[in-house]
This record gives sequence, C-alpha cells and structure tokens, in this order.
Amino acid sequence: MISNAFQDPTSAAAFQTAAWAFWVLTGLCLGSFSNVVIHRLPRGRSLVRPGSHCPRCRRPVAFYDNVPVLSWLLLRGRCRHCEKPISWRYPLVELLGGLLAAAVWRHWEGQWAWAAAALAALIALLCVAFIDCDTFLIPDELSLGLAAAGILLSPLNAGLGGAFWGRLGASVGGAVFGLALCWGVAAAGEKLFKREAMGAGDVKLLAGVGAWTGALGAFDTLMLASFVGAGYGVWLLASGRIKRQEPIPFGPYLSLGAMITFFYKLPLGFPFNL
Ligand SMILES: [Zn+2]
Repeated sequence: MISNAFQDPTSAAAFQTAAWAFWVLTGLCLGSFSNVVIHRLPRGRSLVRPGSHCPRCRRPVAFYDNVPVLSWLLLRGRCRHCEKPISWRYPLVELLGGLLAAAVWRHWEGQWAWAAAALAALIALLCVAFIDCDTFLIPDELSLGLAAAGILLSPLNAGLGGAFWGRLGASVGGAVFGLALCWGVAAAGEKLFKREAMGAGDVKLLAGVGAWTGALGAFDTLMLASFVGAGYGVWLLASGRIKRQEPIPFGPYLSLGAMITFFYKLPLGFPFNL
C-alpha cells in the first residue's frame, strides 16, 4: 500500500514541527547575520569577508562559538581567547531574529514564498533600528532596498489586496504615499520646531515600509512611531536621561511601528478606512 505523507497524521505533525524548527533556526541565523550588517554596513565594510572575529583581539570566531544565543550563554558573554566581554546586544539581536521568524510562521504558516519575503523585510527593519540607534543614519541599501524589494515582491503580498496589478499598484502607491507623508511631516515639524526632527533617512524608510504595507500601513506606521517615540522621548526628558536639545533617532520607532503594521491592520488609519 502506498502511504501519502501528508495524509498520515503522524508524518503531517512531524512535518509541521520540522517546518517550525526550520523557520526559528533560520530566524536565529538571520539575527546573527543582522549583527554583522549592523556593525559593518555603516562602516562600508564587506558583509562576507572576513568571517566573524572578536572585535578586540581580532581572532576568528570558530563555528562552534558562533551558534546563535547558545554560544554567548556557554561562553558567559566573553571571548574564548581574550575573555573580553561580548555585548549582550549580540544574543539579543539573534533572539529577535528568531522571534520575528516565529511570528512570521505563526501568521503565514504554509505560505513559504511570502513568509520568506516578509521575514527578509522584517530582518532589514531590525537592522535599521539598531544602525539608526548607533549612527543616526539609515543606510540607503536598507531603506531603498526595502522599497525596491517590496514593489518587486508585491504580487506575493496578499495583504495589499486585489490581484497582480492591484497589488503592484498598491505597493507603488504605498511607497509614494509613505515618502510624501513622511517628507510633509518632516517639513512641517522643521518649520514648527525650528529643528530637524526627522531626516531624509526616515523619509526613505517610510517609502520602503509603504511598498510592503500599502498607503494605510505607512500612515499607521508613522502614527505608531510618533506615539511610541514621543512617549519614550518625554520619559527620557522627565527622568533626566537626555537634555532638551539632544536628538533621538526616529528610525527605531518607524521600524517598530512597521513591524507591528506588518502583522496587524490597525484602526489608527481611521480617517482613511471608514
Ligand atoms: Zn577576543
């Protein structure tokens, strides 16, 4: 008798578990790669060569010391050779990569192509958040890359609604709307407060986000980012952690807002979705 693996309940469950493990492990590895991107992209260094090495003693990191999260825990956050501490941010970014992959697969289980595309975009947003925190810059490779990839992959994006041309149109429209909206708000903010609140990097990033989430998603992302960013900024000021004129990067809030908008349609687009 010929058995079909997908009709046999035990194999189907095993396949499901294997798929979950595959996505979470992929996410952890992408998180590990994000650490490389976050460190090297703003410095204009190659993302491939040389391989991972300790930033202090320059010795290469062996593959068994490069297992996401686990190696950091086993080495108790220290380099095997020079024993200098390795920032907790490395395992955090790896863990976030794994969590994003789990969230993607929970949301779009079975949709392999779209899940891969969405995860790549979310990983790019993760890199943007940390790079902007470190450098106050958002590399064009990530913001414009998101815009280009979002438009190219829009036929896979069921969240944009419609069929091929509808999705493509919604993606291009979302990018243009995101760009115009963020530019408008940035220009108005500069006039009002006489200082730059958002930079060109933020404007290009919201165009990238719009290409994936559509116009309403870009709007929701900016609203969410403003709420969370303003709230956090007020808390920083009130607790005396920053001074009034000290700039805080906006990219991390845009990235966070975009990540939420990727999964959930919010009622924040209220004036437009009546
Ligand atoms: Zn070292």
